[in-house]
Amino acid sequence: MDVNLAENSENALGEAEAPADVAFAAEPITGVDLPPAPPSGVRDIEAPPEVRTGPPKRLSPSSASTFQQCPKRWKMRYMDRLPDPPGQAALAGTFAHLVLEHLLQESTDQRTIENAKLLARKCWPEIETDKDYVALELDETEARHFRWISWKAIEGLWTLENPQEVVVEATEQLIDAEIEGVPFRGIVDRLDREPDGLVVSDYKSGKAPRPRYVEGRLAQVLLYAAAIANDLGERPRRARLLYLGQRTVEAEVTDEALKIVAADLKTTWSSMTTSCESGEFEANTGPLCGWCPFIAECAEGTAEVRSRLDRGMMRLDAPAVAVVAPLPTQQPA
Ligand code: SF4
Repeated sequence: MDVNLAENSENALGEAEAPADVAFAAEPITGVDLPPAPPSGVRDIEAPPEVRTGPPKRLSPSSASTFQQCPKRWKMRYMDRLPDPPGQAALAGTFAHLVLEHLLQESTDQRTIENAKLLARKCWPEIETDKDYVALELDETEARHFRWISWKAIEGLWTLENPQEVVVEATEQLIDAEIEGVPFRGIVDRLDREPDGLVVSDYKSGKAPRPRYVEGRLAQVLLYAAAIANDLGERPRRARLLYLGQRTVEAEVTDEALKIVAADLKTTWSSMTTSCESGEFEANTGPLCGWCPFIAECAEGTAEVRSRLDRGMMRLDAPAVAVVAPLPTQQPA
């Protein structure tokens, strides 16, 4: 599950009011055998832990998407390795993803809401002790809200499908493949077998896109489909985004669709390589500067946010606003 910045900034689930607590924090249960869990936190399958000086060995969809959005941001994230901790909504999405991964590995008769609750309780200690969760420093009310939005995302799967009817071929499938000469790496959330062939599915906990953004959002799963076709030798029939609790967005995997996303990937890879060689990374300013975690390091982004504030074109709850134009400290009377 990829949770991108734009999704975080408009996460509808995160804005809802939290009802009574969801008891994830109860005593760990026994009797449920879990397969090994993937690393917690938002997955970064491309960047090594150290500062990098050249282009990546393999390109992941999230890295490509960051570079397309802003090359300077990509440099700070993937080359300079500046800290970019996931926010609350992204971490809640990671938790939901972890639970659903385990759930879909169960036999079909075990894929029930009741079992999802048990799995959530089983997985909760891993999230609760994750350094990114600890860094959020949530008070009890906020922690309850976090558990609630996580559970709404998990439960949201039943809005989209009956998991007992899904024929799962693989979950968390690591794919390494060349796409149009670009070394590509991705982790596919779920690969399903339907009567007419394979279907690539990716869970999303952010807000489902408006129609004009659907095509762009589907690029990631279409790239997965291209990679699977190259790596496994069977082309998936459909690529699907499961917006938990909302709706499913999908595309037929056609020659034309694959050609478009592969060409975009190739262009991004070529620009990235050129930037790494020249050391020049364009600052692509825009409304998303308001949500850029590197705003304090970026003069162009700071100027953009200030200008948008002056013109009343920046949401005041955008995190960068507090960095660029902090409220004056109240003096005691
Ligand atoms: S603040 Fe804006 S221009 Fe600067 S790195 Fe971030 S997204 Fe790019």
